[in-house]
Amino acid sequence: MKTAGTAHGVPVTASTDVLVVGAGLAGLHTATLLAREGHDVLLVDRRASLTGAIRTTGIFVRKTLDDFPLPAEHLGPPIRRVVLYPPGLDRPVSLVSARDEYRVGDMAPLYTAAAATAAAAGVRTALGTRYAGRQGDIFHLVGRDGPTTVRARFVVGADGARSTVARDLALDRNRHLLIGAEEVFALPGHDEPPTFHCVVDPTLAPGYLAWVVNDGQHAHVGVAGYADRFPAGLRQALRRFSASAPGLAGVERPEVVERRGGPIPVGGVLRRISCPDGLLVGDAAGAVSPLTAGGLDPCLRLSEHAAAVLHDALRSGKPEALTHYDGASLRADFKGRLMLRRGLAHLRTPALTAAAFTLLRTPLGRAAAGRVLFGDRSFPDAHVGEHGRAPARRVTRRV
Ligand SMILES: Cc1cc2nc3c(=O)[nH]c(=O)nc-3n(C[C@H](O)[C@H](O)[C@H](O)COP(=O)(O)OP(=O)(O)OC[C@H]3O[C@@H](n4cnc5c(N)ncnc54)[C@H](O)[C@@H]3O)c2cc1C
Repeated sequence: MKTAGTAHGVPVTASTDVLVVGAGLAGLHTATLLAREGHDVLLVDRRASLTGAIRTTGIFVRKTLDDFPLPAEHLGPPIRRVVLYPPGLDRPVSLVSARDEYRVGDMAPLYTAAAATAAAAGVRTALGTRYAGRQGDIFHLVGRDGPTTVRARFVVGADGARSTVARDLALDRNRHLLIGAEEVFALPGHDEPPTFHCVVDPTLAPGYLAWVVNDGQHAHVGVAGYADRFPAGLRQALRRFSASAPGLAGVERPEVVERRGGPIPVGGVLRRISCPDGLLVGDAAGAVSPLTAGGLDPCLRLSEHAAAVLHDALRSGKPEALTHYDGASLRADFKGRLMLRRGLAHLRTPALTAAAFTLLRTPLGRAAAGRVLFGDRSFPDAHVGEHGRAPARRVTRRV
C-alpha cells in the first residue's frame, strides 16, 4: 500500500489495487486469492475482532468440504442424519444419508485461520475500520484512529446482506430477507448420532425453519423466518423454541450461551453485481440458496469467480473485464430453488404444514426431501476471463 497526498481536497493516506470491505468468509477468500496473484489488497472490517459478532451457524455441506480444504481441526463431527418435524413435533420424518453430509465449523478459529491465510498471502487487514462512503476512487474509512481515506482501483463489497458498498456503486440490493437468531453452547459429548433437527412450524419460524444441530460437541438452537411474520417477534420465538426444542433430551443447558443472528438474503443472486469500479461477493451479492438459506458454499465459490475477473481487469488494465461478473446469468440456475422458496413461504398455518408432512411421509416425498438435503448441487462454478479459464485455484490451498 502506497502513501499519497490529497485528492478532491481530502487527505489521501494510501492507495491500493483493491479495497475489500467486510472480512466474513467472502471477503477473506476474495482478498486472499487476489493477493496470491500479486495484487495489493486492503481488507477492512468494522468488527474489532473476527471472533466476535458471528452471524452464522457454520454448517458446511459436503460439496464445500469436498472442494475447499477447510482446516479439519475446526470442523465438528460429520452429520448424516436429518430429522424433520411438523408443528407439535409428532411423527417426525427421519432421513439418513449413506455419506457424511454436513460438518459444523467452529467459526471463531475458522475466521482466525482464514485471516492468517490472508495475511500470509500478503493481504493487509484493518479491523475496527468501517467503510463510510466513496467519492470516485477515494474511499472513506473510519478506523480506530479516526477518519481516513484510501484510493483504490476497485472496491469489493463483501459487507453482508445490507451492503453499503452495493448502494454506493448503484448495484442491486437484497430486498428478500429472512432474519435468524440462534444460541450456541458446548456439549460434553454423548452416544447419539450427530443430528440436524429441523422443525417446520410457521408460528415459530414463519417461512423457514427452527433448528437444533447437535453434533455431540456443540448444540445450535435457532429460528429464522420473515421478520414481519413472527407472531411475537424473533426473540420470543427463539425463547419458546429453545424451551421445547427436540434433540436435546438429557442435555443440560449452561447459564451463559453464545448468541448469533442476522439477516439472510433469500431472493437469489442479484442481477447487477458489478460495474467498472467494483463488484459484490457473498451475502452482498445475494449469493445464498433461496431454499436452504445456506450461504457458505455460495460465498466461497462466488469469491473465486470475483477474484478471477478482478485479476483479469487488473492485469489487462481493462475495467470492462468486470462485465463478465454477471449475476443475471448465475441467477438462471436458481429458478427451481426460488420456486421451492415461494412454496415454503406459503406454508402459513400449522394445518397446511401438517398437510405438507402427509406428502413428505410418502416415498416420493422422502425422496424429494433427500434430494434437497443430501443432493450434489452447489452454487454454480462460473467460467470466466478472456481465455474462458475457470477460476478454480483452491485445490491444495487452505481457505
Ligand atoms: C443465523 C444464521 C445462520 C446461518 N447459518 C448458516 C449455515 O449453517 N450454513 C450456511 O451455509 N449459511 C448459513 N447462513 C448464511 C451464511 O452465514 C452467510 O451467507 C455467509 O456467512 C455470508 O458471508 P459473507 O462474508 O458474505 O458475509 P458476512 O459473514 O456477514 O460478513 C460481512 C462482513 O462485513 C462487515 N461489514 C459490514 N458493513 C461494513 C462496513 N460498512 N465497513 C466495514 N465492514 C463492514 C461485517 O462486520 C461482517 O464481518 C446463516 C446466516 C444466519 C444469519
